[in-house]
Amino acid sequence: MTEKTYDVIVIGAGASGIMTAIWAAKASLQVLLLDSRDKIGSKILISGGGRCNVTHRDVTEKDYASGNPRTLRNILRTFSSAQAVDFFREAGLEFVTEEDGKYFPKSGSARTVLDALTGMLEKVPVTVETGRKVVRVTFDGKLFLVEGSGFGFFSRTLAVCTGGLSYPETGSDGAGYLIAFGFGHRIVPTAPVLTPLTTDDPDWKNLSGIALPSRLSFWAGGKKVVASEGNFLFTHFGFSGPAVLDISRCWVCAEAEAKPELLADFLPEEEGEHLREDFINAARDYPRRSVERFLSAKLPERFVGVLLKKTGASPDMTLAQLRKEDREYIIRYLHHCPLKITGALGYEKAEVTAGGVDLNGVDSKTLESKLQPGLYFAGEVLDVDGRIGGFNFQWAWSSAVAVARAIAKRLG
Ligand SMILES: Cc1cc2nc3c(=O)[nH]c(=O)nc-3n(C[C@H](O)[C@H](O)[C@H](O)COP(=O)(O)OP(=O)(O)OC[C@H]3O[C@@H](n4cnc5c(N)ncnc54)[C@H](O)[C@@H]3O)c2cc1C
Repeated sequence: MTEKTYDVIVIGAGASGIMTAIWAAKASLQVLLLDSRDKIGSKILISGGGRCNVTHRDVTEKDYASGNPRTLRNILRTFSSAQAVDFFREAGLEFVTEEDGKYFPKSGSARTVLDALTGMLEKVPVTVETGRKVVRVTFDGKLFLVEGSGFGFFSRTLAVCTGGLSYPETGSDGAGYLIAFGFGHRIVPTAPVLTPLTTDDPDWKNLSGIALPSRLSFWAGGKKVVASEGNFLFTHFGFSGPAVLDISRCWVCAEAEAKPELLADFLPEEEGEHLREDFINAARDYPRRSVERFLSAKLPERFVGVLLKKTGASPDMTLAQLRKEDREYIIRYLHHCPLKITGALGYEKAEVTAGGVDLNGVDSKTLESKLQPGLYFAGEVLDVDGRIGGFNFQWAWSSAVAVARAIAKRLG
């Protein structure tokens, strides 16, 4: 047990914990950053396919799901995506912005994002201890005591930045929920989201490796609930890619009684009318061309093979032989393709955890516990999850800065 008392101990050195520590140290506080793993920021390194989508140009509370939109809005305003970009630029990171507003490091490597953060940790400076798995947190009326195997540290305030349950090999195993629960917090039931979906349909599984642009729509109770757009990837277990990950939340959280359905439009850029005209013109100009060849000019050949099988059309059928009703069925199927979903891959492969520490149990501007003064939460441990596009990191940055500023004010 060390005698030294820190101003703040930050548990968890992922995106939110590193950022909390930096901003608290920038405010001249004595900060100890603890992580259970030997290296910090593991999830940052695997994020965005190794490129790390640091933030997004346009971030609002509509890009997230949470139990308290007001808190979400307050916190996002505390530290906007523009401020996050400025912060990283000051730390030496250069960016590229993609057309859809996503910010990536110009290097194309998540390593440079983590290097920028570790550079800041050294500069401000923050004391970092790795290989320190926190198993017990208590408050003696004045100080927090943070304990694990062979260590115990005291602090005036505590920031829990332990993440959720996703990708447990990066160190996030739900420990923060237990700490919060120990102080009386309600934990909103968790679920793995931004996760690939599974199917038992062998035809789709045989298309493993094919990627297509798509527009997906999720239906429940006979009504369209939400849509997502982007790349769609067929895999040996089912479906992945950004469009699928984005809509996975609806599937995972849907009630079975609502009879959820997932429909895919595999030619999202081409309206039904346009495709129909193409069919008619091609049948007039090249009547002996096969339907398969006609469609393969627009879509991958293997995909067309499955499409024809599913719509009952023979692959050698010519455009002249194709009956009007069969043509209409193919067009409809392409634009409203029903996908049989059997489940989701779970926390092991889910980018984010939905649910977590109830936002109604924390202050809406500072994220300080309403039950234990001096206790704060930031990042994914809270009941907030964003869609694909840099929104989850932005939540980590914004909530971290809100917490660090609040702690500085409290102790200042
Ligand atoms: C594959 C993948 C790709 C992603 N890509 C993107 C992307 O490009 N853009 C985006 O915005 N979001 C992305 N995300 C989501 C984003 O990475 C997370 O939302 C974000 O990292 C959460 O940060 P956090 O600090 O709250 O938690 P985490 O990053 O999970 O960090 C928690 C830390 O706490 C430590 N810890 C946990 N328990 C203890 C304990 N008991 N004692 C000590 N330490 C502990 C862990 O070791 C870990 O280092 C991706 C996620 C994954 C899995």
